[in-house]
Amino acid sequence: MADRKIPITGHTELITLLATPIRHSMSPAIHNAAFEKLGMDKVYLVFEVGQEGLEDAVKGLRAMQVRGWNVSMPNKTAIIPYLDKVSKVTELCGAVNTVVNDNGVLTGTSTDGTGWVHAIEENGVDTIKGKRVVLIGAGGAAIAILAQAALDGASEIAVFNKKDAFWHRAQEKVDLINRETDCKVTLHDIDDREDLKKTLDQADILTNATSVGMKPHEDTCLVEEDELHEGLVVMDCVYNPKDTLLLQRAKKKGCKTVSGVYMMLYQGAASFKLWTGVDMPLDYVREKIGI
Ligand code: NAD
Repeated sequence: MADRKIPITGHTELITLLATPIRHSMSPAIHNAAFEKLGMDKVYLVFEVGQEGLEDAVKGLRAMQVRGWNVSMPNKTAIIPYLDKVSKVTELCGAVNTVVNDNGVLTGTSTDGTGWVHAIEENGVDTIKGKRVVLIGAGGAAIAILAQAALDGASEIAVFNKKDAFWHRAQEKVDLINRETDCKVTLHDIDDREDLKKTLDQADILTNATSVGMKPHEDTCLVEEDELHEGLVVMDCVYNPKDTLLLQRAKKKGCKTVSGVYMMLYQGAASFKLWTGVDMPLDYVREKIGI
């Protein structure tokens, strides 16, 4: 946590995060470090708010003229009816993680996919335009990435998932994104390993957007080492641990790897820019939060 040198006064502005459970979030450390570095008289605080309190919380924030806030689970879709407008990426993925309040007009968007694109473009490939992506997972993170990558010009995205509770919604989103963007999106069963291997052989980027590999199950991974190839950029949305088993396997194979901590940092940076109009001081924040 940054040491706050600017005193809290009657002028200090609030930026907040509404979610539950959320006390573990790194967002306060990220945004407060950035405010501190830039001498901005703002403070980022977390409030444990679930769906039952969400409408009242949004009404309150609007009435208090709070400039912006994040939402996370379980509020990412539930908040949409309480907003005035949503971005194109939210129309496609059906989720919001950032709200901007322009003089009482509330606009929702998702910066999770932007965070993923920046993480890949800073650390893996020069641009995702024209790239072929294999995306494992069809939950909230995966669909936000899918929507943003399709809007930002990825040429093909193959989504691999189990035929579980996420499958039906994934098919709807794949159909919508095919209709609304120039990207060719397909949905595949991850249990068809021949299909996965063949698709990976043709791909430029692989991303795990499931929770597989996350602590305390860091010894789990959905992709075998011999399914990877040198030249593939491998990114894991899981950020705890920073160096997941998938990334370890990818490194052994000679792939470029990108940790989920960068997606987390860059999604925060994209929200920060929307609220303040200013770039987040990334090097400073990275050093402060130790990534
Ligand atoms: P979610 O619950 O919405 O989706 C989970 C997905 O994982 C589904 O597609 C499900 O089918 C799949 N899955 C779960 N267990 C599986 C298993 N054993 N085998 C195969 N597939 C399995 O979760 P989410 O919100 O999309 O988050 C997914 C991961 O991404 C989490 O680890 C989360 O921490 C991470 N995440 C990271 C960032 C970041 O900024 N780095 C942002 C959002 C989410």
